Amino acid sequence: MTTLLINSIYRATEGEGIHIGIPQIFVRFQGCHIGCVNCDSKETWEFDPGFTISLDEVMEKIEVLSQDVIKRISITGGDPLHPSHVPSLLKLIKELKHRDYYINIEAAGTRIVPEVFDLVDFISFDFKTPSTEVKTSKDLLFKFVQNYSQKSQIKAVVSDKRDFESTFDAYFFLKQQNATIPHWCLTPCFEPGEHFPMMRFQQIVQMNENFGMPFRVIGQQHKWVYGPDARHV
Ligand code: SF4
Repeated sequence: MTTLLINSIYRATEGEGIHIGIPQIFVRFQGCHIGCVNCDSKETWEFDPGFTISLDEVMEKIEVLSQDVIKRISITGGDPLHPSHVPSLLKLIKELKHRDYYINIEAAGTRIVPEVFDLVDFISFDFKTPSTEVKTSKDLLFKFVQNYSQKSQIKAVVSDKRDFESTFDAYFFLKQQNATIPHWCLTPCFEPGEHFPMMRFQQIVQMNENFGMPFRVIGQQHKWVYGPDARHV
């Protein structure tokens, strides 16, 4: 029997990135070893076997939420691409494709997993900025856009000027390689417990304008609507 470690399955409106506003079903994996210091879902880090659920149960929950109306799935985490998840993730993706779902996967920007990326419809690939204390290498990013720019976006959570400059530096590197760069979104950081960071948002918009506007600046709508600590929204 195929089992998966799943934190939650829920229906909500996409709150960030270029698909903002689209209703979809989120399948959130449990378990992540990447350790971004500003992670807003630290409750998903532990590979806790208590979250084990069968593939049949996952599909049943999805079909109940879908009602054959919402046919978009966003697979997120945690880190759904952790090697220990990949075998069961592949079975989930194949079953979803068999039932005609459109699949986005949220990729942490620390690894490329071709067997997964080739099957899904869309990849949201993180560029990890310095404030995360995790690194996305430029070479990995180049390899990613060489293979997947036609069906992806890059997302960078930006806290400050250093994050912006690091993101621009990676963008400039790709430009120098004549790479085809997909939509690249800056997500102004909105941390748990914070009030809406209007100043930070304005500064990031301004920096983007000052640097020739290479990026789209898209905040996390669900945090404005429900607050930065709300879950499953
Ligand atoms: S990869 Fe995602 S879940 Fe893992 S620590 Fe970073 S932000 Fe959190």
